[in-house]
Amino acid sequence: MRVVGVTIYRVDLPLVPFEHASSGPVTALQEVVAAVRTDGGIVGYGEVRGNCHYVTGDTPERLAAVASTLAPLLVGESLEDLALVLERLDRAVVGNSGAKALLDIALHDALARGLGVSVATLLGGRRRARLPANANLYFASPEDTARQAQQAVREGYRVVKVRVGLGLERDEARLEAVREALGREAGGGEVTIAADANGAFQPKEAVRCLRRWEGYGLGWIEQPVPAKDFDGLRFVREHATTPVMADESAQGPREVLELVERRAVDLLHFKLCKAGGFAPLRTMMAIAEAAGVPYMVGQMDEGMLATAAAVHAGAASRARHFEVDGNKRVTAQPFAGLEMDGGALVVPDGPGLGIAVDETGLTPVAVFGDR
Ligand SMILES: [Mg+2]
Repeated sequence: MRVVGVTIYRVDLPLVPFEHASSGPVTALQEVVAAVRTDGGIVGYGEVRGNCHYVTGDTPERLAAVASTLAPLLVGESLEDLALVLERLDRAVVGNSGAKALLDIALHDALARGLGVSVATLLGGRRRARLPANANLYFASPEDTARQAQQAVREGYRVVKVRVGLGLERDEARLEAVREALGREAGGGEVTIAADANGAFQPKEAVRCLRRWEGYGLGWIEQPVPAKDFDGLRFVREHATTPVMADESAQGPREVLELVERRAVDLLHFKLCKAGGFAPLRTMMAIAEAAGVPYMVGQMDEGMLATAAAVHAGAASRARHFEVDGNKRVTAQPFAGLEMDGGALVVPDGPGLGIAVDETGLTPVAVFGDR
């Protein structure tokens, strides 16, 4: 199976808008899609969110430009040499995990399709066929946040994550509203409430909030302090009882190793776009597992193709938590094949990622080799 062509596409996906402490208002997902074509007529696809400036530094233009620099390195290469090809991609440019993830995912999809197996099988085999997802509650009024929490629990979600960072009083009003609402919901006792500050607090401020919020029994506080502040994460971990999860801090294998060595966190949150693809993601998982630090496999809000990639990565992992319903707010997309069942994602059985892609719904921005 030889790569004969690569096409880089753009597509904007409309969605129910959202906002949290570092994203600002997001009204559309500006996606970059790659298609890797093989001599046997098989096509593998990858998708990564372009308007991801607050996590990876990417813009759609940068992502498409770097992917277009890397794509010619794939043409003529054999998919059976996937590990070697990925190593070359990684060395070709420093950083740019989003563009690397885009091509890594498309290559894995192509190889798995060629072999007639799912990507989860290619990654070592499934541990589960359904992944229970977290519900994300973005910035909204306390009443609205409470309604969303109730709706999520009715749909079958068992972890609801409240975005915080609006200031102590407003955050607390929303957490209180969610707790009250879930207390009224049948089975609410089994529901975990977690919080994600997206780096909004200073360490002492985070500790002050968490001490006040002890009664909520938060499952974890995610990224309480800015991404680079590993000392701050450790300070929060040592001065509050709520487990501390790193998301924006846990970019790639080097950062995960450092977080673990410095005993800065209780939990880690991994995403393909931060890692640079399945290959480095597996290294991050191995570091966490060896250190005994539980992790979540998650993703950005993005389309179904990117979501399916996170689902396959999660299915083949030992992750404790899954934040893999990122396409839920998307109202129209040129992808099909991923199903949800009662707050859980069903791992597609079909070959590759198991997602059908309608290329007529995508705008080509660069073509290399055969089209
Ligand atoms: Mg997060």
